[in-house]
Amino acid sequence: MFADIKAYFASKKIPAFRFKQFLNAVYKNNISSFDEITVFPKALREELKEHFSLSSMFLVEAKQSADTVKFLLKTKEGFFVESVLMNHKDKRRTVCVSSQVFCAVGCKFCATGANKFEKNLSCQEIIEQVLFVNRHLKHKEEIVTNIVFMGMGEPFLNFDEVIKAIQILKDEECLGIGARHITVSTSGIVPKIYAFTDLNLHTRLAISLHAPNDKLRSELMPLNKRYPLSELMKACDYYTQQTNKRISYEYVLIGDVNDKKKHALELAGLLKGRLSHVNLLIYNPHEFASFVMPKKTDVLTFRDILQEKGIEVSIRKSMGDDISGACGQLSGKVKRKGEEEEYLKSFA
Ligand code: SAH
Ligand code: SF4
Repeated sequence: MFADIKAYFASKKIPAFRFKQFLNAVYKNNISSFDEITVFPKALREELKEHFSLSSMFLVEAKQSADTVKFLLKTKEGFFVESVLMNHKDKRRTVCVSSQVFCAVGCKFCATGANKFEKNLSCQEIIEQVLFVNRHLKHKEEIVTNIVFMGMGEPFLNFDEVIKAIQILKDEECLGIGARHITVSTSGIVPKIYAFTDLNLHTRLAISLHAPNDKLRSELMPLNKRYPLSELMKACDYYTQQTNKRISYEYVLIGDVNDKKKHALELAGLLKGRLSHVNLLIYNPHEFASFVMPKKTDVLTFRDILQEKGIEVSIRKSMGDDISGACGQLSGKVKRKGEEEEYLKSFA
């Protein structure tokens, strides 16, 4: 990111410390225009303004709920991108970033997947989501502390840009977010799990499982036909063996679909002996699917069975569902230019 500016500085024989000052201004001081880089001589600021642009997106709206802020951004070409800030009680500030505009994987329960895939986000577009949030937090003297790649899109189908973004998130000279505070969630793109493991980035990995057997998983996630559970679990084992890190398995409980005792027992069998933690999510309803939320008693029984079987498990608190900002609800309903009004009205 900003490689073009770095190259420009080199071509103009501008001393290297200027680029460091530039990175500091962008990543640490959250500037949004070259004019704000006051450590630069005015002439240099003007020169940069003429040749480069600092942002590839602009903020359309930030919608606030009790513990969550949903940001609607728009790329230069007119694509809408959503990111969600979760303000945890313990001061963690987590941003759920998008890696694509919609998603080709097409999981049956997900609003993002119900829309036709439109584009991979660039590394810059991924990083800018975090910069927008940092700017939003600046007045409270807070900063983004955690990143989850759980917004729109399948990160492992935009592998190279996501990896570049992770490097920038981690880089001390850039955002300096600890690798342990970055989680990548995948629906199970098996070859990329191996590639990701071999990069040894020290980040966390989450696998969206959602079903304990191939039949049910293929119904919910058509991708399972291409990468069945046996292959997925082999790749997960490779990850845990190489990194010695446990994997978070995400399991969305959907009413009367995958939330019964037999599913919990089967899941416990699948994860037995594996370094794992199960995150149970409650299905968030949306207009693109007709599933229902699970009964509370079924959720608790499901959790108890896993616990009894020695599987680490927690029920993930859903944040932002009052502003359609919860898991699986990011649908960026309005995709093309000129339709913002309709979108904004839907917030009213
Ligand atoms: N594509 C990646 C990351 C984005 S989805 C993946 O699938 O892992 C982030 C999480 O939200 C996934 O675990 C996904 O299964 C879950 N999710 C999708 N739709 C949901 C819904 N309607 N309710 C609750 N969680 C949902
Ligand atoms: Fe894509 Fe993840 Fe939604 Fe599946 S759950 S459609 S992989 S964003």
